[in-house]
Amino acid sequence: MNTLSQLPARSPVESRPRLVGLTTNDLRALCESWGEPGYRAGQVARWLYQRFVFDPREMLDLPRRLRERLAAETDTFPLEPVTERATDAGLTRKALFRLADGGRIESVLMRYPENERSRARRTVCISSQVGCAVGCPFCATGMLGLKRNLSPGEIVGQVLHFSRRLVEIEGEGARVTNVVLMGEGEPLANFRNVWQAVEILNASDAVGLGARRVTISTSGLAPRIRELATRPLQVGLAISLHAPTDDLRDRLVPVNRKYKIAEVVDACRAYVAASRRRVSFEYAMMRDVNDSVEQAHQLAGLLDGLLAHVNLIPLNHVDGSPFEPTPWTQILRFQRTIQEHGISCTVRTERGDDISGACGQLHAKVG
Ligand code: SAH
Ligand code: SF4
Repeated sequence: MNTLSQLPARSPVESRPRLVGLTTNDLRALCESWGEPGYRAGQVARWLYQRFVFDPREMLDLPRRLRERLAAETDTFPLEPVTERATDAGLTRKALFRLADGGRIESVLMRYPENERSRARRTVCISSQVGCAVGCPFCATGMLGLKRNLSPGEIVGQVLHFSRRLVEIEGEGARVTNVVLMGEGEPLANFRNVWQAVEILNASDAVGLGARRVTISTSGLAPRIRELATRPLQVGLAISLHAPTDDLRDRLVPVNRKYKIAEVVDACRAYVAASRRRVSFEYAMMRDVNDSVEQAHQLAGLLDGLLAHVNLIPLNHVDGSPFEPTPWTQILRFQRTIQEHGISCTVRTERGDDISGACGQLHAKVG
């Protein structure tokens, strides 16, 4: 039984129930409180989460009286798409949304066509907060500061928006295959709403995406990682490490002043033990800051004995950031050093840099 679903799925500015963001249990409670049979909830959930129809008047298998009441007494889709920019021959698309209180967030769709090694993937990178309080000095979102948490509906809505767009772009049957919480915000600082969104993404009577296809990226809120380890859904976990020593990480990822590297890595051990899933460590390569061979050895030492993968991210340009990207040859040298320790290590190929849609570039400037 999901106790989170007892909580109202509303953003601070909403006073009426918002259908998108309600679990099927929530929808059932709503229907029953109106004297409707509980199975109506499943019908509404299918329209919202599987057919991407958000206007109750179009939910044709509901009785007219329920359609009209839903239309009159609830709000539906929480995001207003403002612009969409495409690049990589249309394979990468960044959407800017306006929220009900005028806030803005961005999300990115990345399509990877089928090839000899893997099936087609369609990944949506979504935001969990407006801005972010952590304040990493190389990240555009961090420069904004935290405005507010997103509601479950605002989080799930980003996936639903691109689900609907995919059908328009590719035709019936095209589906989002993966979701990564790597947009704006620190997902584990908005744990309750993020978890409700994950449950809706996962539930077979809602979006129906396997938990393994959802990845949460965090700057390392150790107690919340331990909390995640106790949850039944085994989502992917990525840690934005970026530095192998506390001195350096205190500056690059300021939450490190509270939760030191050893504490974060320990929490990851608990996560691996509970989920049997490999944890990814993200490492944005900054010239002469965190990219020496010695630092690669230190990083490998930290991860010794942990089921881990290292993902090196070529640093993306962000206005106002003092950091420069590591030259390619040095990235490869760093990668080889990690691999020599028997740790799997890849270099992330970036998508969407030219539309400011790559890692750390989402900051909700118009355009
Ligand atoms: N707040 C969460 C999730 C969003 S950030 C987190 O930090 O994990 C998604 C990833 O992009 C993180 O690994 C983040 O550290 C990285 N990132 C931020 N700014 C970047 C930049 N300028 N270049 C490359 N990666 C960056
Ligand atoms: Fe926040 Fe992540 Fe950006 Fe750091 S990298 S400021 S944690 S969004």
